[in-house]
Amino acid sequence: MRADGEIQAEVRQALARVEDPELPVGIADLGMVRGVTVAAGAVAVELVPTFLACPALWLVESEVLRQVTAVPGVTGCQVTWLPGGWSGADVTDAGRRALAGVGLAVPADDGAASCPFCGSAELTVTSPFGSAVCRTAAYCPSCRSPVEVLKSKRQPGRAEMPRRNRS
Ligand SMILES: [Zn+2]
Repeated sequence: MRADGEIQAEVRQALARVEDPELPVGIADLGMVRGVTVAAGAVAVELVPTFLACPALWLVESEVLRQVTAVPGVTGCQVTWLPGGWSGADVTDAGRRALAGVGLAVPADDGAASCPFCGSAELTVTSPFGSAVCRTAAYCPSCRSPVEVLKSKRQPGRAEMPRRNRS
């Protein structure tokens, strides 16, 4: 049997390969991975949803299960979604750069977002709904670019639990 610590390191690498189905960035760089524990080969992964209404959470979960159970020595994997708690501040610098590359701004904890192209903080929200439910459409007057802002919430609570049966 492999040592749990060795398995855990490989599980972390496997998680880094899981991409958000709607964003060009991995779930680790999005700050969605909160905990990885391994006990005698059984893996428990704790994730937070970036936004409760993202209908793709079950896709993330199935990809996590697929990648983690492929790690040698893993006997099983349990995914737990923590209620809310994600904010734009959890996105890594690498994740931020990848999102800026496709015109997506990541808001700070106070909800303020700056233009991913020119850095201007004067964004005008044009619609509460962007091309996906987890984005807000906005416009940057200083470089005249349409941008999208990731929705970010910091209030935990039952209402933020993802609906796993949603299709
Ligand atoms: Zn701009």
